Amino acid sequence: MKLFNKLLMAAAVTTSLLAAPIVAVAEGFVGISMPTKSSARWIADGNSMVEQFAAAGYTTDLQYAEDDIPNQLAQIENMVTKGVNVLVIGAIDGTTLSNVLENAAAAGVRIIAYDRLIKGSKHVDYYATFDNFKVGVLQATNLVNGLNERFGGEKPWNVELFGGSPDDNNAFFFYDGAMSVLQPMIDAGDIVIQSGQVGMDKVGTLRWDGAVAQARMDNLLSANYTDKKLHGALAPYDGLSIGILSSLKGIGYGSGGEKMPIVTGQDAEIQSVKSMIAGEQYSTIFKDTRTLAGVTVGMVDALLKGETPEINDTETYDNGEKIVPSYLLEPLPVTVANWEEVLLGSGYYTMDQIK
Ligand code: BGC
Repeated sequence: MKLFNKLLMAAAVTTSLLAAPIVAVAEGFVGISMPTKSSARWIADGNSMVEQFAAAGYTTDLQYAEDDIPNQLAQIENMVTKGVNVLVIGAIDGTTLSNVLENAAAAGVRIIAYDRLIKGSKHVDYYATFDNFKVGVLQATNLVNGLNERFGGEKPWNVELFGGSPDDNNAFFFYDGAMSVLQPMIDAGDIVIQSGQVGMDKVGTLRWDGAVAQARMDNLLSANYTDKKLHGALAPYDGLSIGILSSLKGIGYGSGGEKMPIVTGQDAEIQSVKSMIAGEQYSTIFKDTRTLAGVTVGMVDALLKGETPEINDTETYDNGEKIVPSYLLEPLPVTVANWEEVLLGSGYYTMDQIK
């Protein structure tokens, strides 16, 4: 090949290299607003997101609002001032964010609702969560399985219902999912709610507070169960389950031949896993926060690259302003029979943390 041709080729290669599309390098600043550190799951969510966003090349600002609504609003406003490109929000009260999100959107910030739906705002771009109705179905299924196992011959079963926080949209999905299993059994007379307290307006537990659930269980027991046995309690979150179990233990359930009622839960928190192993709490629901963080990072990454995030639900989550496109993950039921396989097998916990 003549020198001239060689030079021409080299020039062509150089030009084509220069003209090659620049590989998209992730760039962006993500504000992560989590509700509280009082429950281990939110700490795990925050840590997983920070880690996975960093691995994808993003910087983050993670804040916890300690279940204080004005605090969360101030933290989000501050993130917007600092120039975040995206907000990922696990709301304390899903109805309080409209104004703050209006301002964020005006500043060009994209918004992801994390685990809990944000209501009353058209600026919520996407929602990453678990199949919350299914969580409730699984909780009630666990309850019924436990009732059959422990109190098979004692029908009808006396059960009391506990709901989550009425300002958290999830609480209604959990409750409705559970009632889709329990209501037919109540109608058939297999389950009796001795207190008559049914419906989220009666059984909700503001801010998911275990002490509130414990006090309510104390009242239910003294008003309805001095001459009857309680067989089960539907509890939607491990923090409530632990409070309910304290109340039950306080009047002798679970000792001296008094069988412990079946108590459900959610989040697979360490204290509850230990309680299951000790034969107290019957079940929980595992929602892998690492996977939810992963879905969220994927959504943000797509949004910031001008692509369309992957979703698998466009019907369920109407926030009053729009149906928020969502990605729903699968929750898993856990009892003493499968906790090792699910929680250790997935590497979520180590044996040292549990024993
Ligand atoms: C979450 C649950 C959690 C509850 C209390 C809900 O929004 O989905 O996983 O148990 O809040 O923190």
